[in-house]
Parts: sequence; C-alpha cells; structure tokens
Amino acid sequence: MRLKGGYNVLLKGRPDGAVKVMPEPKVLYLRLSSQRFIFSEVCVKEGQRVDCGDVLAKDRDNYAVPLLAPRAGTVRLSTADNHIVLERITRPEEHADLDETELSHIVKEMGAAGIKRYKLLVLGAWQFFYDAYTAALPDPLGTPQAVIVSSLSLEPFVARGDAQLHNRLLNFTRGLEQLQSLLEYQPIYLVLPDIRSDFANLVRSQIRGHASVKMVEISLRYPYDNFTILARWLGLKRSEGPIWAVRTEGVLAVDRALTLTKPCTARIVSIAGIGVNSPTHVRVMPGYPIKKIRDRYVFEPAARMINGGILTGRPLGPQDLGLDTECRGITVLPELEEREFLGFMRPGWNRNCYANCFLSSLREEFGERLTSGVRGERRPCISCNFCEEVCPADIMPYLIHKYLYSDLIEQAERARVDLCVECGLCSFVCPSKIDLTRELIGAKHLIEKEKEEIRQEEEKQRRLVEESVE
Ligand code: SF4
Ligand code: SF4
Repeated sequence: MRLKGGYNVLLKGRPDGAVKVMPEPKVLYLRLSSQRFIFSEVCVKEGQRVDCGDVLAKDRDNYAVPLLAPRAGTVRLSTADNHIVLERITRPEEHADLDETELSHIVKEMGAAGIKRYKLLVLGAWQFFYDAYTAALPDPLGTPQAVIVSSLSLEPFVARGDAQLHNRLLNFTRGLEQLQSLLEYQPIYLVLPDIRSDFANLVRSQIRGHASVKMVEISLRYPYDNFTILARWLGLKRSEGPIWAVRTEGVLAVDRALTLTKPCTARIVSIAGIGVNSPTHVRVMPGYPIKKIRDRYVFEPAARMINGGILTGRPLGPQDLGLDTECRGITVLPELEEREFLGFMRPGWNRNCYANCFLSSLREEFGERLTSGVRGERRPCISCNFCEEVCPADIMPYLIHKYLYSDLIEQAERARVDLCVECGLCSFVCPSKIDLTRELIGAKHLIEKEKEEIRQEEEKQRRLVEESVE
C-alpha cells in the first residue's frame, strides 16, 4: 500500500535541536487530567510530604497508571482546581515506589516477564504507549501482534525525534532490547526517515545488529508518522490483535524503568512557534509552571499557547497551570487581533499556501509567520478538493462535511468517516477555513456512541429473552 496524501506545513518557528535545562521550580502544578488520562483516585493527603517518584494519583480506568511526584515536596490539594500542587520542592535521590507484596504476587503468577510489565506501569513508562488504531493506552498485560516504534515527529512543532535521541542513542538501543524481551516472536518495526543525514546514518548503524528490529523508512511528510497510518501501511490489521505503538521518548522511558529501575518523571518538550524568542527544546517535568515558561520564552504580549503541535494541539487556558503528563511541546502563535479584510485577495508574496494562488508560488520554499487567524474569516466550501488531496486516510472530507451539514450521519458513515486519523491537515489547507477536523471527530464520536447504545440495547433484549425462557 502506498502512503497517500500528506503535506509538509512549512512555517517559521521550528525549534533547534538543542535541549536546555529549565531552572528548578519552587512549585509544581500537576494536572489531574491530560489528553488520555484522568487521575481521579488521589492517593495523597493535604500537607503530606512526598518523595520524588511517589504515586500521587491513579487513573483507575486506564490500568491504574500513576501520576508520579517529579520532585519531593508538600502536597496541596485545594490550592488549584484539577491540580495537585507540590510546594517546598526539593530534589533528593529519586526512588521507585514499588509495592513489595504486589511484586512477590506477580512473580508467583507471571514470572520475570510480569515484573517487567509491572515496572513499566508503576514507573510511568507505560504512559508512553499507544494502541496504533485507537490511540488508547494498551493493556500492559496483553500480547501485541507487533510493535511500531517511530523515531519521527513530523507535526510542527512537537519535540523532534533527533532532539530526544541526542546523546542517548545507547539508551535507545538498550530500550529496544528491553522492549524485545517483553515479546516472543512479534516484530518491532522501527520507523526512520528516508534521508541520509549523519545522525540518521548513525542510528541505522546502531540498530542494524538487532535482528528482531525491522527498519522501515518513510519520507518526511506530515502525518506519515501517525501510528494508524503506519499500521495500515505495514498491513497490520486491527482484527488480528492489538498493535503497540511508541515514540523515541517511550523507548528511552522503557530503558530507564527496566534497566535503571527509576521513575520516568522528566520530559523533553519543544517551546516553539513565532511567538517565542528562540524556539528550542527544554528538559522539564510534568507540573512545570506554564507561567515560568511564558515569562522566559514568549515575547508577544498577545499570544496563544497551544499544548502540542499546530495541527492537533489544544489551546492552553488560564485553568492550565502546569505542563500535563503527556505534553510533547508548547506552540506559541501571536494572536491575530484585527480582522484581515479580504485577506485572501492580497497578492501574497509572503503567504505560504497549498494552492498556487499567491505570488509566493514564484518564490523558493520559505517559512511563513503564521498567526492564530490562520487565513482570515470562514467562507463556504468552494469545492477546490484540496482537503481530499492531502488527506492521508484516502477519504473525502468535503463530502462528509456536506453530509454532516445536512444531518445525513448515515451517509457520513458510509463515506468512511471512521478512517479519519484526526491529523488536522484538511482544516489547515481549506481556503474557506472550515474546521473539517473538528466536524469529522464529532461525527466519529457520535457514530461510536450510537453503535454502543444499539449494542447495549441488543444485550438488554437478549438478557430479557433468556430470563423469560428460564
Ligand atoms: S479527514 Fe481526517 S485524516 Fe483526512 S486530512 Fe482531515 S483530519 Fe486528516
Ligand atoms: S478544502 Fe475546504 S473549500 Fe476546498 S473542497 Fe475541502 S472543504 Fe471545500
């Protein structure tokens, strides 16, 4: 199968490959929710002193993944909504919060392999894993049909794979070996860029000796690093069992948890976009105060800060006080405060566009200063077909948009809205600024909810029939 669609969004504000260390914070604001997790079971009390690596809370609906304390400190539960606040921060030796009774129980039940999986979960490394098709957290005790390891981050401007790997190639190869030890015969597909840079060649030469790791090369085109797209491309079918997917930082976390038995409480995130002084990567911990990052890096007085990349990130609001546990980057765009009247009719020497409709198409490639306005005001669909051209899922977003506009949800389902991987490209290239991605995600959720309701109703009817027969 050929990789379809895709488009490289060329924008200014890309982070460099350096990784800087942020100053130690005085307070940490640990969010009790992130994109996938809700840490609803709080395990600490007001005023309690915790050590670095202690479990603060757990997500009971996600195999009890823990929210770990990245530093020692005093717990405050009522200072900020939806956050555990750590005050009077100190940085003593990290320790692993392992339950000895639980460990001996696991050894009896599952042997050494069970211990490794338990460690991945309780030391915070399992949070870096995804199911390739659903993006949910996979079952840590499950058996995958394959593992996809992606060394790429193609969305502007989440943390780059090469920045994650810098000076840590040995840890990465060790992490791959540890990952392999969790499997029997299942393959690990390592996704690399099809370029010949010195760094890419070094990674290739290090990995070549690992027989169980199959290297696959893809072109650097967004969103070819998307796990669903990769699984489809590799011919891995959803019906044949779960497919684990993990990025570079996840493999490094596996190494840390299994080789060093240390909690995974640090992250490398990008601070990028044209609202930032000097786009770069920083080494921080979950809970790091967003205000501190803003004060240090953001120079625009009116700036929109986004948790994640430009295409799939979520705007940060005043309620977000610290970095959440899944943050991969902060993108900063200057807020467009004035309406661009007839902006699309300007000659556009400085405007990057998927279409060749601006004078800029006569120039060589260049990065554009993109603001939060993206492209002026919204307009109706003009049937330009751009969204279909870039869609990596090979569906017709404009057609689904028209079905949804007319409340024809069944037709949208027949047009395979379920195949959408939520990459955001269709919204980005749409000259009419229609938020296709949001519409399609909404339709997917609605269809899934309706199917679940039908399934529950059928189950109820079946039980009623069984009871009446008895
Ligand atoms: S329809 Fe979905 S998969 Fe296709 S471009 Fe839009 S967001 Fe991406
Ligand atoms: S890109 Fe926008 S305007 Fe063009 S066909 Fe798709 S929805 Fe319509």
